[in-house]
Amino acid sequence: MNEMSIAESAVTKIENHMAGNHAPTSAGRGQDVFNPATGEITAHVGFSNQDDVNAAVSAAKRAFPAWADTPPIRRARIMNRFLALMNENKDKLAEAITAEHGKVLSDARGEVERGIDIVEFACGAPNLLKGDFTDQVSTGMDNWTMRQPLGVVAGITPFNFPVMVPAWMYPMAIAAGNTFILKPSPTDPTPSLMIAELFKQAGLPDGVFNVVQGDKEAVDALLEHEDVKAVSFVGSTPIANYVYETGARHGKRVQALGGAKNHLVVMPDADIDKAIDGLIGAAYGSAGERCMAISVALLVGDVADEVVEKLRDRANNLVIGSGMTESSEMGPIVSNAARQRISGYIDKGVAEGAKLLVDGRGYTSPGAENGFFLGASLFDHVTPDMTIYKEEIFGPVLACMRVNDFEEALHLINSHEFGNGVSCYTQDGNIAREFSRRIEAGMVGINVPIPVPMAWHGFGGWKKSLFGDMHAYGQEGVRFYTKQKSIMQRWPTSISKGAEFSMPVAK
Ligand code: NAD
Repeated sequence: MNEMSIAESAVTKIENHMAGNHAPTSAGRGQDVFNPATGEITAHVGFSNQDDVNAAVSAAKRAFPAWADTPPIRRARIMNRFLALMNENKDKLAEAITAEHGKVLSDARGEVERGIDIVEFACGAPNLLKGDFTDQVSTGMDNWTMRQPLGVVAGITPFNFPVMVPAWMYPMAIAAGNTFILKPSPTDPTPSLMIAELFKQAGLPDGVFNVVQGDKEAVDALLEHEDVKAVSFVGSTPIANYVYETGARHGKRVQALGGAKNHLVVMPDADIDKAIDGLIGAAYGSAGERCMAISVALLVGDVADEVVEKLRDRANNLVIGSGMTESSEMGPIVSNAARQRISGYIDKGVAEGAKLLVDGRGYTSPGAENGFFLGASLFDHVTPDMTIYKEEIFGPVLACMRVNDFEEALHLINSHEFGNGVSCYTQDGNIAREFSRRIEAGMVGINVPIPVPMAWHGFGGWKKSLFGDMHAYGQEGVRFYTKQKSIMQRWPTSISKGAEFSMPVAK
């Protein structure tokens, strides 16, 4: 859509939020926002240039000293009001997600709920931020540590969780006394402004939470800005790598979470029906557009034929339709480009010799022929050298692989370049224990298909699924958004022997 047609049309224009107010975007570029279930354009998001980013950073920098100086309990009270507003607006937030992302409403509600969990965790800031104190490290001298906020920090987020993933970042960043700039995905930008509005209603001082819409131009301006002290990123691996390297080169603290290829192992002793339920939900829920989606079923020993047959039956009978329809189990793909990319992977799987048991290409939803729908796809006899095994597809495509034993399953998973989530279905406690200890991935499920850690545990993968030292949220989030200071103190009346020229030791 060109600039002329934007002006003539009635679509909503989505722009920035800074210093508590709407702000324009100035890059002179932007992109249409679609309802993936109908293929209709519903809004246009403007992109930010360096001037817009500079203005957001200035607003956040101005707000920082007073906010950092606000007692944590008072910051937590504002976060508590925000928590109540998030709860009151759960349904509206979920509907906004489904309207622009396409995932089914029940899934969108779950996303909002998991984001709210983290807001609730951050309400414990006074306790989370308290330091350590040692009385009398030397006679008349005490030593304590405190954690202080970093300053202006930024979050850059992907399309697939427009409410939950930003909530991995801003609640703890803000509760710890930082001021925050969110650069959401331009694919589904509406929730970012709803969050800004709820913070305003909660009484958050202007400039503490800001939103800049945009693409690489805005991201680069944030990465290069000397007043941005830390960057949290979630998205695909090549961009995570780029954000990590560029941010670090500009002296920032960076955590950059990337892509995934998550395996679910079915051991011969597993409860097969529970494993099938786990696989179907985790492979096709949210149309496979989750970083914790299961994209590989590793079938051990003689379970393979039974599991594959049951998966084929379930995949063929999946209820696919608009996310707004309560009975839908799987909604559309987020965009036409993503749909084409996923179809291309299915073509490649066939060309490279995998057996396509269920073909989701060419699926159309009756009455919504222009929606970006794909059916579920199921491959069998996938091998490690195939592109559909090596690369992240990020769509409703499940690859079944057959292995002889547990050791082979472990070896295959540990050889993959990604290490986000992984799952094992078994009834053998020792296998479960060995799997948890020896697997090289950040998040492990035992008879749990999508082991997304709760708000107080922290989320993150290994290998190419995370660049940086710390996971998102939980105690890791507290550490990421604060720096430690150690203070040693004594008073003039304390024992002092005058100047000392040797290393001080406890006396
Ligand atoms: P993406 O990498 O395309 O975009 C993520 C963010 O980076 C967006 O805000 C986008 O505007 C920005 N961006 C895109 N291209 C850029 C560039 N060249 N330079 C600078 N910034 C750029 O990811 P996506 O398609 O929005 O999301 C899907 C990906 O995110 C998948 O790979 C998925 O596995 C991953 N993801 C990972 C996790 C995790 O926790 N590991 C969670 C959710 C999603």
